[in-house]
Amino acid sequence: MQTTISGYPRIGKNRELKFAVEKYWKGALSSAELSAAADALLRDAALTQKNAQITQVPCGDFSLYDAMLDAAVLFGIVPAAYKRLRLSPLDTYFALARGYQGTGGDVKALTMKKWFNTNYHYLVPEFDRTTSVALDSVPFFAKTAEITAVFGTAGSRPALVGPYTLLGCSRFTDCTPRDFVRPLASAYKALIGACAARGFPWIQLDEPALVRDLSTDDRNLFRSLYEAILEDVDPRCRVLLQTHFGDVRDCYQDIIALPFGAVGLDFIEGAENLSLIAQHGFPAGTVLVAGVVNGKNIWKNDYAASVKILDALRSSARIGSDRIWVSTSCPLLHVPYSLAAETALDAAVKERFAFAEEKLAELTDIARLAELPPALREADAAYVRNGKVKGTQVQRNAAVRRQIESLSERDFTRNSPRAERRPLQHAALKLPLLPTTTIGSFPQTQEIKRNRALLRKGELSAEQYERNIRGFIRDCIRLQESIGLDVLVHGEFERNDMVEYFGENLEGFIFTQNGWVQSYGTRCVKPPVVFGDVARIKPLTVPYSAYAASLTSKPVKGMLTGPVTVLNWSFPREDVSLSESAFQIALAVRAEVLDLETAGIRIIQIDEAALREKLPLRAGNPRAQYLDWAVKAFRLCCSGVKDETQIHTHMCYSEFEDIIAEIDAMDADVITFEASRSKLHILDSLEAHRFETETSPGIYDIHSPRVPAVEEMIASLETMRKKIPAEKLWVNPDCGLKTRAPEETELSLKNMVAAAEAVRTRIIKGEAL
Ligand code: GLN
Ligand code: ZN
Repeated sequence: MQTTISGYPRIGKNRELKFAVEKYWKGALSSAELSAAADALLRDAALTQKNAQITQVPCGDFSLYDAMLDAAVLFGIVPAAYKRLRLSPLDTYFALARGYQGTGGDVKALTMKKWFNTNYHYLVPEFDRTTSVALDSVPFFAKTAEITAVFGTAGSRPALVGPYTLLGCSRFTDCTPRDFVRPLASAYKALIGACAARGFPWIQLDEPALVRDLSTDDRNLFRSLYEAILEDVDPRCRVLLQTHFGDVRDCYQDIIALPFGAVGLDFIEGAENLSLIAQHGFPAGTVLVAGVVNGKNIWKNDYAASVKILDALRSSARIGSDRIWVSTSCPLLHVPYSLAAETALDAAVKERFAFAEEKLAELTDIARLAELPPALREADAAYVRNGKVKGTQVQRNAAVRRQIESLSERDFTRNSPRAERRPLQHAALKLPLLPTTTIGSFPQTQEIKRNRALLRKGELSAEQYERNIRGFIRDCIRLQESIGLDVLVHGEFERNDMVEYFGENLEGFIFTQNGWVQSYGTRCVKPPVVFGDVARIKPLTVPYSAYAASLTSKPVKGMLTGPVTVLNWSFPREDVSLSESAFQIALAVRAEVLDLETAGIRIIQIDEAALREKLPLRAGNPRAQYLDWAVKAFRLCCSGVKDETQIHTHMCYSEFEDIIAEIDAMDADVITFEASRSKLHILDSLEAHRFETETSPGIYDIHSPRVPAVEEMIASLETMRKKIPAEKLWVNPDCGLKTRAPEETELSLKNMVAAAEAVRTRIIKGEAL
């Protein structure tokens, strides 16, 4: 059996890519230096893969920012506004990624969305009637060089987003995906021809969009694309259709009817794929790329389980070992690089984990074990060691388990319904119409980061650290008062990350030193690992929020991260259900909420930034169950507070349209969410669903350094006001400000407050829309 992977992390073992790209943005690195930095990373990845004896690897899938954006640019799908800037190709690329404000013009970034059920975000390509597909493969092949230097063209295969997913994840104005079937299919066909000419025997087309629910139209679209691509295509380069994040039940028969050289299936999230193969068979002569190593989680693979899948493929579907490539369930983009960088973890903890590099070794082990007869397998040292580790139990907390068992409906329900709480809250808080606020974090300056770093290194006493934090809070409160915001925050200067901070202060989590995972562009996160039962040991945020509140007469929001987000942005356990872990975390958050209330905090925001993230991709039962426990977990956090206490929540870059009713059912009093980058599309759905929760769809994009003008934000507010009654409308940026620079933040917020004031005055004067 051969081994392969569907993709590898690209940000660099020590986030080298992040730092190089950010330097380039600041003008401190030339484009040549940036591409040299990228090449060094690729060379390192190739050698690591080679050392692990992986037989076939993808190439060309490297990206300076996002692979979807790369595909759009590769096929010339660049809106006219960006071309008009007349920047270099590289700067046009970054203008698409992050917006541009300069001598050439002023454009926003493309919309950013969550990539399926992951915490990765992609940029949404935009098609309109003027879009003309034009392949420029030179930069693409340039990205393959470092890998082919190690693996040769025979051992590496160009890999990119496939046409169905490209169309399925893009936005269309005045046109439809159908309009682009022919041009796009010929561009892909030309690319395959170019691969063949360069001696590549394979190309990998990633089609995760095939694991969603497909309509007849979707299936037809998929078929017409690939019929066109595969007809008379250069036979020297065969197509590997790579799917991941689930099973392909709606199009399996279409897939096996098409002349693909190889089909990649996920057997972790897509367990159903096994039955599809058993039921419909698998075409003779086609290679099956079997995703048996979890590409999303960091736990060691269960060798016995993986080998069992491979046995089933060979026995029930008669797929010979020579036609099976053992692979990962999805690209390894979603896990950290290597356990080698983890010098502080206990050996007993470490032996349970496998990061990207260790997963490579697992693939090689599994391929070898699968070929052994059962008796030899059981005597194999790697197999035995693996079984032992998988068999030991992680830490449990009996008290927490008892608490969960005794939960009743009452624990998920607030004292009074929202309609009765609202007047009480309004009377207590006395906020103006269109209250202005922020999402919580303020810019994390060097000084603030240094404060944490010095504490960590032991070069700062805990007392001095706390004194500094108080200083930052004081400055932040003063700044917000001078800007004229209505609801203030303490600024989150104690947090490196909204999940890591909570995990660090709760029992049951484990932290890595260097377990970085790309979230979007140059932004990385270091997800904690839920390692055992979760419990709160001590109050986490109360002293900071209470101190901030003592400095001002304006209301200060307490700022917590919700249970579903903590869980979704951690690596979850595999030995208990997600809902069980979520309820454990919810009980910890609930204790914190009640302590904040006791400390006099009257507004408490529980961020559920990632609530939608792990929503099962398919409708039906699993999705309903997920939403049921996710909403309950949130309600469990806040059901204990008084009616007068206002509960806020916040969500990031997501498509909410299909879960609006559930979001309302979280029973928060106010929700803020990201919509400025998705151009306020969600307003119609809010209106249609008679959304009850007070809300703000975020008035400007914090993922971009541009400063929005007052007029621009007045216009957004007026658009919002048409769909959301003014009494229910809040005004705030679309997410936390921690990644922004102080100057642009202050200017943007001042403009935002001015815009809110202008619209407020119009409303008070009774001016019609
Ligand atoms: N309160 C958090 C912050 O402002 C929310 C961040 C997020 O939604 N990702 O940073
Ligand atoms: Zn957010």
